[in-house]
Amino acid sequence: MATPQEILNLINSKYELIDLKFIDMPGTWQHLTVHKSQISESSFTEGVPFDGSSIRGWKAINESDMMMVPDPNTAWEDPFMKEPTLSMICTIKEPRTGELYDRCPRAIATRAVEYLKATGIGDTAYFGPEAEFFVFDDVRYDQNQKSGYYYIDSIEGLWNTGREEEGGNLGYKIRGKEGYFPVAPTDTLQDLRTEMLLTMAKCGVPIEKHHHEVATGGQCELGFRFGTLIQAADWLMTYKYCVKNVARKHGKVATFMPKPVFNDNGSGMHTHQSIWKDGQPLFWGDGYANLSQTALWYIGGILKHAPALLAFTNPTTNSYKRLVPGFEAPVNLAYSQGNRSASVRIPLTGSNPKAKRLEFRCPDATSNPYLAFAAMLCAGIDGIKNQIDPGSPLDVDIYDLSPEELAKIPSTPGSLMAALENLQKDHSFLTAGGVFSEDFILNWIQYKLDTEVIPMSLRPHPYEFALYFDA
Ligand code: GLU
Ligand code: MG
Ligand code: MG
Repeated sequence: MATPQEILNLINSKYELIDLKFIDMPGTWQHLTVHKSQISESSFTEGVPFDGSSIRGWKAINESDMMMVPDPNTAWEDPFMKEPTLSMICTIKEPRTGELYDRCPRAIATRAVEYLKATGIGDTAYFGPEAEFFVFDDVRYDQNQKSGYYYIDSIEGLWNTGREEEGGNLGYKIRGKEGYFPVAPTDTLQDLRTEMLLTMAKCGVPIEKHHHEVATGGQCELGFRFGTLIQAADWLMTYKYCVKNVARKHGKVATFMPKPVFNDNGSGMHTHQSIWKDGQPLFWGDGYANLSQTALWYIGGILKHAPALLAFTNPTTNSYKRLVPGFEAPVNLAYSQGNRSASVRIPLTGSNPKAKRLEFRCPDATSNPYLAFAAMLCAGIDGIKNQIDPGSPLDVDIYDLSPEELAKIPSTPGSLMAALENLQKDHSFLTAGGVFSEDFILNWIQYKLDTEVIPMSLRPHPYEFALYFDA
């Protein structure tokens, strides 16, 4: 844990510039770079002033003054800036009251952890997200590109590094469904992933591994250690920042869009989670798969609220193109040990109680991690408080079940619209304990409808041209 004074000493010894980063409502980092003269001890309590009027989903222009409060534990030198610049992640405060800003996602995440403590159930929630992404050649910068190339190939699902070289290399492609991580020369992204991983380490992320993923060319996953809810969300944002910027440096583009390629695996953000109290894990016990009763109720809460929860964990129209059968993405709301076709999986972790956790496989990395983790924790807490029974585990491959058997298992919502409708009906588990405000939930639903669901529905889709143009 770094103190403000230690950070001020560090700044004085080395940095003219400090980059203050914060997360907007949909989940993108915004930033403001200030001279060191603008940072003092009070910056870490009262904050640094900025104009919040143009931030998506936030304040009206007449009440736009806001304060961002840097967290001294998130300081690292930004590897993508030419001048030595110290980066810090901030939480937003109201200037008049000094309260955490109601619509700041990092503030909501902070409140979720406070709520956990207030219930007496636990004092720490650990999260471990596994965000997958695709790397494509950045043809926007290709002088020789044909007009519309980027767009048209994406329609046919051919838009990836493996297949877009016209008349070029047809060998050494990672071929679908033949095992997903052969060595080089089939894997062409080894060095890129290594650079991404090592760059993350320089930004304080406790790195663990990297590998190619299942999709046919260009899908990757980098792994880092689990952390507390806020840490894990900070690291996830740092992860995305490093992945995208290292890709960009090499003339490539990385996307966390859940389903960029038709008919191939999408990119998820499976989220491992557990809660602890007084340094002891609460999920280990003598129930199914060595789960405690607390863990089973937590799962009950996740499964019960999943139809609404997905409005935060899978918050884009594209998210629901991933949640379809056949691509290792969950489509049914069930739990199981080891079974990757269930939306809640209990990983086989041996006999170590500290490793006992569940993996919720629905989320994807278009979610705002602060909101997604806070919402999952709220669903779990609701499950524990109300002793929600998760039902029987499903220890078969869900993809192999007959239609009759399958019909008995509830499914994930089919669209963002459906998830938002569910959220409208079911959100008291989020407002309990004051974690999310009613205003935030309604604003979220309206924002998603106005900027994503409705605009998407108004546009003729490329596939409609294939279906109907000649009709
Ligand atoms: N890409 C798969 C998904 O969409 C997951 C693959 C894996 O199990 O790592 O969730
Ligand atoms: Mg994976
Ligand atoms: Mg996983």
